[in-house]
Amino acid sequence: MEAGLRGIRQRRPTLAVTLLAGALLVLLAAPALAQTLRIYHIDVEQGDATLLVSPSGRALLIDSGKNGHGARVKAALDAAGVDTVHHLVCTHYHEDHYGGIDELVVDEGVTVLHAYDRGDKSYLPEDKTAGDTFTGYEDAIGHRATHLMRGETIPFDPEVEVTCLAQGGTVLGEEEPVPAGNENDMSIALLVQYEGFRYFNGGDIEAPTERKIAERDLALDVDVCKANHHGSDTSSTAEFMSDMSPSVVVISNGNHGGHRHPRETVLASYRDMDPEPLVLQTNKYLKGPPGGNVPDAQIADLETTNTDGTILVTVDAAAGAYEVSYRDTTVVIPLRHPRPVAVDVVIARLLPNPVGSDRDHEAVELRNDGAGPADLTGWVLKDERGRVWTLTSVGTIAPGESATCVRARMPMNLNNNGDHVWLLDAQSHEQDEYAYPSCSEGVWIETDH
Ligand SMILES: [Zn+2]
Repeated sequence: MEAGLRGIRQRRPTLAVTLLAGALLVLLAAPALAQTLRIYHIDVEQGDATLLVSPSGRALLIDSGKNGHGARVKAALDAAGVDTVHHLVCTHYHEDHYGGIDELVVDEGVTVLHAYDRGDKSYLPEDKTAGDTFTGYEDAIGHRATHLMRGETIPFDPEVEVTCLAQGGTVLGEEEPVPAGNENDMSIALLVQYEGFRYFNGGDIEAPTERKIAERDLALDVDVCKANHHGSDTSSTAEFMSDMSPSVVVISNGNHGGHRHPRETVLASYRDMDPEPLVLQTNKYLKGPPGGNVPDAQIADLETTNTDGTILVTVDAAAGAYEVSYRDTTVVIPLRHPRPVAVDVVIARLLPNPVGSDRDHEAVELRNDGAGPADLTGWVLKDERGRVWTLTSVGTIAPGESATCVRARMPMNLNNNGDHVWLLDAQSHEQDEYAYPSCSEGVWIETDH
């Protein structure tokens, strides 16, 4: 690069050359970022704050910690490179989920473009609506929050689908909705889908809403879930967890002597699952039974006093995997439902008029331009009269490689006076086609495909 720049200088650069060199420098300076979805389970101790950053850089914040934790959430936004929250969801009106919102918006000056909550504010008891936490939330953002309904989606990012599965204790598809009996179970529950990746965040929902979600198979085979209600024994019911069958469970917990989350009985039920999920805690719980802990290696903040307990999930759909990182640990886990690699096999060249017998030696060369291996089992080459060459014996072509199929007395003939040939996959979908007007003996026709 240095030599190149010196060369340009010696030739007295034109404006265009200077601009080009500047563009090259910018390109070299910018790291090549993979397209990822990032999910930060922010360390807010006994509370919830989950930040999602989409491939195009949009931010969705689900809850924002308790009173006094607005600055923590702001620091996490800064670390993630987020200065605007495009969508904010308040799952329910409990202090450990929405206490920090007014500090984030008013004191820290973070712009929130759209806010959502579970509505139903006129039904709340007066001792709640008169309290500082609720009025702080209402004044900061709640007064302009959209009442998010089950079945609605949040327009977060064209590539990421965010669906509200439950709110107020009623779930998607419930025909005669019966509301939940308490504030926790009224939480907004969200299913996030990005390419093949699935993530569940249900706030503090409890057994009744979990049961309704499981009965309707609304959250099946997820990759990662946040444990409902901080790993409380009011939640993580067997039917719900076996439906979700998560690869990873993240518990957002602190060292609360009253709640004692996560409960040892819940951790034991996770250990009994088959396959057993990787269970992580943001913080270590230090107050004894009936609370418990996963092994230290699966806990982000072992002291539970500072802010280094954030657990980050980075989804790289193109790689078919995601990374879970916390403290000095990074684990790579394959997606449950990786997106299928697009098959792209083309007709590269044809030999309709070989030296010697056409019936034996006619040939077609196929090339795999896709990113993954192409198995040609069930594939055929076919002409206008419907006669074929079967390609099963060609086997699998590696990406970038070619394979030649020789006629060997198969029914289709490549007419020397011009012909039209189609390449069909095992589902009879057309992958490629080529027509030629004539040919010469012993000369391959290049298709330029
Ligand atoms: Zn909570």
